[in-house]
Amino acid sequence: MPSRKDGPSVDLHTQPLPRMPGVGPSVAEKLAARGLVSLQDFWLHLPRQYEDRTQITPIRLLQAGVAAQIEGRVEAVDRGFRYRPMLRVAVGDDSRATVVLRFFHFRAAQVAQFRAGARVRLYGTPKPGQNGLEIVHPSYRVLEDEDEIALGEQLDPVYPAIEGIGPATLRRLIGFALDRLPDDASLELIPSELRERLRLPTLREALLTVHRPPVDADVAALIDGRHPAQRRLALEELLAHHLSLRRQRISQQAHKARPLKQMPLAERLRKSLPFKLTGAQKRVFDEIRVDLAKPSPMLRLVQGDVGSGKTVVAALAAMLAVQHGRQAALMAPTELLAEQHLNNLRKWLEPLDVRVAWLAGKVTGRARKTVLAQVANGEAQVVVGTHALMQEGVAFRDLALAIVDEQHRFGVHQRLALRDKGAGGAVGEDAIVPHQLVMTATPIPRTLAMTAYADLDVSAIDELPPGRTPVQTVALSEERRPELVQRIRTACAEGRQAYWVCTLIDDSDEVIAQAAQTTFEELSVQLAPLRVGLVHGRMKAKEKQETMRAFKDGELDLLVATTVIEVGVDVPNASLMIIENAERLGLAQLHQLRGRVGRGSAASSCVLLYRSPLSGLARQRLETMRQTHDGFVIAEKDLELRGPGELLGTRQTGLAGFRVADLGRDTDLLPLVQELGERLLKTSPELAERIVSRWVGGAVRYASA
Ligand code: ADP
Ligand code: MG
Repeated sequence: MPSRKDGPSVDLHTQPLPRMPGVGPSVAEKLAARGLVSLQDFWLHLPRQYEDRTQITPIRLLQAGVAAQIEGRVEAVDRGFRYRPMLRVAVGDDSRATVVLRFFHFRAAQVAQFRAGARVRLYGTPKPGQNGLEIVHPSYRVLEDEDEIALGEQLDPVYPAIEGIGPATLRRLIGFALDRLPDDASLELIPSELRERLRLPTLREALLTVHRPPVDADVAALIDGRHPAQRRLALEELLAHHLSLRRQRISQQAHKARPLKQMPLAERLRKSLPFKLTGAQKRVFDEIRVDLAKPSPMLRLVQGDVGSGKTVVAALAAMLAVQHGRQAALMAPTELLAEQHLNNLRKWLEPLDVRVAWLAGKVTGRARKTVLAQVANGEAQVVVGTHALMQEGVAFRDLALAIVDEQHRFGVHQRLALRDKGAGGAVGEDAIVPHQLVMTATPIPRTLAMTAYADLDVSAIDELPPGRTPVQTVALSEERRPELVQRIRTACAEGRQAYWVCTLIDDSDEVIAQAAQTTFEELSVQLAPLRVGLVHGRMKAKEKQETMRAFKDGELDLLVATTVIEVGVDVPNASLMIIENAERLGLAQLHQLRGRVGRGSAASSCVLLYRSPLSGLARQRLETMRQTHDGFVIAEKDLELRGPGELLGTRQTGLAGFRVADLGRDTDLLPLVQELGERLLKTSPELAERIVSRWVGGAVRYASA
């Protein structure tokens, strides 16, 4: 058969999945909404994890956090209605141990099924509960006594859920697509020499292994994500992301920007500040100045620990734009954060006669019209706001500098959307675009930065302003919780405020919200008459903001919260933080949370509550938290500690949403990815193109919508 240049296979991969019996247009629509259209999209919808139903674990041997299949009999059933309906079912087995199943939603028929003595087989992840281990919403089957249910022969893949499509249908669709997997020759994009050097399988082999693990596959490796098949996929995925970011950088740098050089206004701001810049702030501002002076756009990320003083550096940079008669915009991910910036900037800039405008979702009606007019005619020299800045109808007269705070909440594409505002819409070849400054409080080690931020130059503010009293951190066992109530009372009696952070290792917002609600009610009673507030992810944005504002304004003494408070919120009067289940959080997240206190002049403390027994890793994490406050040290340690199964931390760093790669686990692949990426860009750009479109094509399409 004559070979065509691109091979017919390329088309095959990107062809829509053929119509499958029983799959109608509405299913297809739901799949498409999640980027599942072509055969290739289905091949790459990879299992999120595996369930091991090849054996039954005696209840006595269950371990918290380790998923298992068990079989036993219902011993007791309890239906409660304390805050919302709840069903608890105790199941025991021959190992003479009991585990509690807990359901927050259930139907009457389910309750009826669980009669005492009924035989059940179930699968789930136990966690410590009020009376021993419990499993929230296990998948289960009630069996008749005579039923003989065979054990699974291989691991069951669990796919990321797609709304409106049952797991069985999804599995069927993926199987259907896999049956149409072509041979290596038309599928493989990674040079064979490299694959052999690393002893990695071909893409075809790798896909078949992860979707349909063979009976003799290394189960532990698959569950940990360290199987060669997964590493093979991770390598290609990381490469795709790297290439996509590099390409973006190359194309952005082809644009032009107006050089900004004049310093007097920035100098005046610097002199008017009530403090001296730290050495790190000066150095980073100098790096920014060098970039701004060039006729090509700056693309710079400033990493700086919580409280390192990024905002003022951004304000200084903005002054160069203003000095040149042009505009700067500062965008933050939440209204509360944006408002904090607004207050700071007004305080600093208004004495210099620089006009600062405010644009957020809640600015409506006439006020909005006025702001939009000021943005459009240039009267607004610095514009602070939320996503609202990127909306239609917002037109800048002359945006020269786009600043984005807390980058990981936005992602690359939103950043570009703000840039496009400055270029007056779609960016063509010769477009003049604004300089871009991105700020993040989640430091990441250099190796990671080179991949995660391959499209940016990176600066670090690695020094805190002087005079901060370090947060005193202690780790306390859960049993000492009652002492804390007294401690909160004392702090609040002295006019201070406190946070109580509820966390659970659980994918479900609902379960966490429930736990927070319970804690909130208990503490409200125990601490009366102190004023206690609650925020969690299930509340309406408006309610959340209202409560946060009340806390900020000192109308609440204690704020019970889930990790929604993680980013950026500044309440200097809060000096005590208690983090429940601290042993389950990654270092990065603990550090972010702790950064909420120690912002004022009072000595602050952070209590890490844990449940015994601590795993070795958890112990090391808590110890690290006690020993250091340096975000960069913590980031390095985080990377070093994060072992298999410790996925939570990575998921929380908010870096790109990978299908299979894990920047913590797959760090050793990164230098290779960088090397190979540069080589491909130089020698085979069209191959690079195919790798990118295979893995991130859908994401890009989605973001530009
Ligand atoms: P972050 O980097 O977390 O965004 P901010 O920019 O909010 O930090 O700064 C935290 C606090 O420190 C602010 O109140 C800010 O005014 C103050 N600050 C910034 N730089 C300095 C400095 N060099 N000396 C003293 N205080 C500073
Ligand atoms: Mg900040």
